[in-house]
Formats: sequence, structure tokens, C-alpha cells
Amino acid sequence: MIVLGIETSCDETAAAVVRRDDEGAGRIVSNVVLSQDAHAIYGGVVPELAARAHVERLDDIIASALKEAGVTLADVDAIAATAGPGLIGGVLVGLTTAKAMAMATGKPLIAVNHLEAHALTARLTDGIAFPYLLLLVSGGHTQIVRVDGVGSYRRLGTTIDDALGEAFDKTAKLLDLGYPGGPAVERAAAKGDPTRFHLPRPMLGRPSPDFSFSGLKTAVRLEAEKHAPLSPQDVCDLCAAFQASICAVIADRVTRAFDLFRSETPDVVPTLVVAGGVAANKAIAATLKGVADKTGARLIVPPPVLCTDNGAMVAWVGAEKLALGQTDGFDVAARARWPLDKEAEPLVGHGR
Ligand code: ATP
Ligand code: MG
Ligand code: FE
Repeated sequence: MIVLGIETSCDETAAAVVRRDDEGAGRIVSNVVLSQDAHAIYGGVVPELAARAHVERLDDIIASALKEAGVTLADVDAIAATAGPGLIGGVLVGLTTAKAMAMATGKPLIAVNHLEAHALTARLTDGIAFPYLLLLVSGGHTQIVRVDGVGSYRRLGTTIDDALGEAFDKTAKLLDLGYPGGPAVERAAAKGDPTRFHLPRPMLGRPSPDFSFSGLKTAVRLEAEKHAPLSPQDVCDLCAAFQASICAVIADRVTRAFDLFRSETPDVVPTLVVAGGVAANKAIAATLKGVADKTGARLIVPPPVLCTDNGAMVAWVGAEKLALGQTDGFDVAARARWPLDKEAEPLVGHGR
């Protein structure tokens, strides 16, 4: 089967075509992602600007995805779009477009949970079997999820305050390193001494694999104020200490998640799948590799374009659900909030 996927929940305008064969193997035929650049000067995503940019560009992006795949809408078996969670204006643009296309062509519509799309990506890239663990670390989310099947997810841990990508971005802003902050902090950290500053390592040893990053961010601010004005080397040393704290926390929390996984399914070798923009961080990836090796687990880090927001992951959920006969009606609503392991909540606010 061939599925078109549309993603507009944050600041990527994306569309893709994927194929799924009868054995369940997936292949990406096209994957077009436009990362909106209008937000950089504001140091963060501006929801209204994002929604407008999706309106302006989505038609072109969908046309490019179909063209690159060498198919027309007539060849497509279903149209899938992110229906939440995310910035509601953007989600509405993508979902309404998908509805209009499905209505005009008579093709089935599939409303996709964005987190589910991150969760199932490794089945597209590596064909892995259930159950497995997902570590989602992005600008809006930080979660460890146990994935037992399509539609069967249990959140084992989450952040109680900032998302990890958000902590990188806020720290970068504080140290004048620009936006997005993750890559800038990583570059500075590579030139720094991680032992010079002592920063907290929040949540270490807690029984549930939850996270907290806001205290760490505050600790960076206090050190920065104490040593102001900061020399370039001070900035690098602070970034190195910040990143080292994060790696220590992640190692501890993921080890805890492996323990939980093993206690529930002792006969299954744990597999950890990583998703989200922060997965691009080499120190974090190396930390995860170390934990996986030490505990005899398997680690899957999809390529960066599939870790960050994209249409292929949305199309893939569409294909997995279509294969199970799960499609949606035109009355399906866009949702700002939509936790993976709970029934949909009513449309509220714009938070994630
Ligand atoms: P979501 O997908 O949760 O809606 P998002 O679109 O902001 O949120 P992504 O696009 O997956 O998330 O990732 C962006 C985040 O990843 C940013 O916070 C960015 O700073 C962070 N990031 C990117 N590269 C790195 C890196 N090398 N090190 C650390 N963080 C990084
Ligand atoms: Mg993004
Ligand atoms: Fe995402």
C-alpha cells in the first residue's frame, strides 16, 4: 500500500510518501521537510507565524512529495496527517488539508498522534518487533514510553518541568549562543572542561524514570551570574558541565527504564529507540550506546531527518493503521494535547 503523510504540528512543514508491503516492511519513497526559518530571530517558535507559514507552503510541499515519489494522488491508498499534539493552528492546517484531499478523492483519512509517529518510526527504518522502549527527547517532549503494539503505549517516565531540547535552548539563550540552542551548546561543550563547574544531576536514583531539567538550567544561570562577564572559555566550560550532567541523568533514567522493562518481560532483550531532535547530540548518543552495551540492550538511533519532525513517520503510522483497518471520520478533531497512553482530551489551549 502507498500512504501520503502530512506533518504540521510545530515548525516543520512536511509531507512524504511511504510504501508498506504485505509482510509489513516499509520503504520511504519521498520525504520533503521544510524547516521554517522565520522563528530564529525570536529565539523560539512563534505559533501564529508557524501556522501562516504552513498555510503558505503546505500545498507545494505535498506536490513535491508526490512528484519525488513518482506517484499521483490516484495511486495513494490513504491520506494521513498529524492531528495532535502540537501548536493547534499548525495542526489544523495539516489536518484540514488532509480532510479536504480525502473528501475530494474518496480515499481513507487517518488522524495521527505525533508522538505515536515518533514511537513507530523504528519499525519503518529497522522493522523491529514489539515490545520495545522509546526515548523521545525533543523541543516539546521528554518521555520514556513502553511500546507494546500499534495503539498500545505506556508512558513510564516524563519530564516534570522543561523538555530536554527546551533546556538546551534556554541554556543557549542565557549564554548568548543563539537558536536553536542544542547544536550550539554541543559545539561549545566540545571545547570545555566538564569538571570545572559542579552542576546538579536532577532525579538521579528516583524509582520511576522521570526527568527534571529546570533546576539544572537555573544552576547554569547562577554560575553565569557569579562569573560575569563570562569569557569564551567560561561559556565552553559551563556548556560542558551542563551536557555532562544531562548525560549522567539520561544514563541513570534509561538504566531504570531497562530494569522496569526486564521486570515485566524478562525473556525479551530490551530495545531502546531514540527519537527527537536532541538525539542528534553525539555525547548523548554515546552515553546511550554505553548504557545499552553495559546492560545488554539494543539501541536504535534513526538518522537525524527521521528523529526530528517529518512526514514519513506520519505516513508510516497511516500505513500501520490502514493495515489494521483503522481509519478516521471527517469529524475527527485537531488536538493541542493528546497524551499517547490516554484517550483524547477535549480541545484545549495551545500547550503541549
Ligand atoms: P516536538 O517534536 O516535541 O514538537 P520540536 O519540533 O521542537 O518539538 P525537534 O524538531 O524534534 O523538536 O527537535 C528540536 C530540538 O532539538 C531543539 O530544542 C534543539 O535545540 C534540539 N537539538 C537539536 N540538535 C541538538 C544537539 N546536537 N544537541 C542537543 N539538542 C539538540
Ligand atoms: Mg521542530
Ligand atoms: Fe516531534
